[in-house]
Amino acid sequence: MGKSSKDKRDIYYRLAKEEGWRARSAFKLLQIDETFNILKDVTKAVDLCAAPGSWSQVLAKKLDSSNATETKIVAVDLQAMAPLPGVIQIQGDITKKSTAEAIISHFEGEQADLVVCDGAPDVTGLHDIDEFIQSQLLLAALNITTHILKRGGKFVAKIFRGREVSLLYSQLRIFFNRVTIVKPRSSRNSSIEAFALCEGYDPPEGYTPNMMNPLLENSSVDWSQLEGEVNRFVTPFLACGDLSAFDSDRCYPLSFQGQYEPREPVQPPIRPPYADAMNLVTKMGDFHIERHD
Ligand code: SAM
Repeated sequence: MGKSSKDKRDIYYRLAKEEGWRARSAFKLLQIDETFNILKDVTKAVDLCAAPGSWSQVLAKKLDSSNATETKIVAVDLQAMAPLPGVIQIQGDITKKSTAEAIISHFEGEQADLVVCDGAPDVTGLHDIDEFIQSQLLLAALNITTHILKRGGKFVAKIFRGREVSLLYSQLRIFFNRVTIVKPRSSRNSSIEAFALCEGYDPPEGYTPNMMNPLLENSSVDWSQLEGEVNRFVTPFLACGDLSAFDSDRCYPLSFQGQYEPREPVQPPIRPPYADAMNLVTKMGDFHIERHD
């Protein structure tokens, strides 16, 4: 991807580097907060699927630090993440029991006010499969959330708005008083991505969190609530972020190139998936390659 490719001329990509965020995703959380005040009075938060760490940066900057000893931010990802002051980091797969246990162990005797999850699998392009894997990530995040979130707490998670998404909304509604689907202005219009903003954590009567998938294995939930079309919730869908904010699909025009000085990434990837290929290319440079075409 060259410096003038469409992605690298993306206005939020460049703005992130100018403002010191590790990824353009920072603006999604900032815009959700701008409209719904999700960070107000939050001192303890978990950032699931956090790498490279721009949401953790937002949390570290905006959480109520009036009592620094109270503030706790735990960030988790499959990938290694460069350290961030004030953020406890765990490297692991959130769908694995051991990772869930490691996160929960940081909250013994305490509860989180907020759990966020911006998790996305590597998309295959097969929409049904991508949507399914995404929903499994969300359910794993929800399971961890049921162990650590305080009553009344909030959960924000990325969803793909595919064909079967209304079932997911209904499942979330079992655990939260209010579920709203929000689309920040910085989230590309062309993407089926949106965020489920779940407020007022209120698990069903008798629900005891366990390490199983909370929605399939837990016998303390009355699943009959989910049967039949009439029980499907109409979930509000709201755009968020200042209306005068940049449009997510806006790019700098190519003619602007000369006036823009590209900046280095705020935090280069620690071990990017393309590193092996780059090493191979460097090694191949030592050989003379004959072509017979
Ligand atoms: N919110 C992040 C930020 O602002 O920098 C960006 C998150 S990125 C869109 C999605 C992340 O989900 C990737 O870093 C990926 O490694 C992570 N991820 C995907 N599946 C995961 C899993 N099973 N467990 C933990 N992390 C996962």
